[in-house]
Amino acid sequence: MTTAIYPGSFDPFTNGHLDITRRASKLFEHVIVGVYATPAKNILFTVEERLELIKQSVAELPNVTAQSYTGLTTEFAKEVGAQAMVRGLRMTLDFIGEFDMAMMNKKLYPELESVFFMANQGYQFLSSTLMKEVANLGGDINEFVPPPVAKALLQKFRQ
Ligand code: ADP
Repeated sequence: MTTAIYPGSFDPFTNGHLDITRRASKLFEHVIVGVYATPAKNILFTVEERLELIKQSVAELPNVTAQSYTGLTTEFAKEVGAQAMVRGLRMTLDFIGEFDMAMMNKKLYPELESVFFMANQGYQFLSSTLMKEVANLGGDINEFVPPPVAKALLQKFRQ
C-alpha cells in the first residue's frame, strides 16, 4: 500500500491545503494529513481544534485520514509506514524553505520521498496567516476555506 503523509501546522486548514490533499489522494492509496502539534509560530487553534477541522473538511475523501504528531516529521512518517511526504509549493512563498527541509529530511530518513504539488493558480496567494488576518478584520473568507473552518474562524474572533 502506498501511503503518504501531508504534514503541516494547518492553523487553520484552507482550500489550498484541501486541494493538495485531494490531488494527493488520487496518487496514493492512503493519505494521512499530519497536524504538527507545536509549531514554532503563533498558533490560533489548539491542535485538537485543527485536527477536528481537518477531519470535517476531508470527510468526503475516503482514503484520507488525519492525526496529530509531535517531534520529527520523519519519525512520524516511520511510525505510520509512509513512503512519501507531500508538500505544497506556492510560487513566491515556499521554494527555499521547502528545499532546505527536503534536503534535511533526506538525511534523516533517506527512504522517504518528498513529493511536491504546485499550488493551483487560484490558491497561490492563500495562506492560513492571511485568512486569520482577514477574518479578524471582519472580511469574508468563505470562498477560501472549507465551511467548518469559516465557522470556527468567525467564532474565534467573536470571542
Ligand atoms: P507549515 O507550518 O508546515 O508550513 P502550513 O500549514 O503553513 O504548514 O502548510 C502546510 C503545507 O501546505 C506546506 O507544504 C505549504 O507550502 C502548503 N500550502 C500552504 N498553503 C498552500 C496553498 N494555498 N496552496 C498549496 N499549498 C499550500
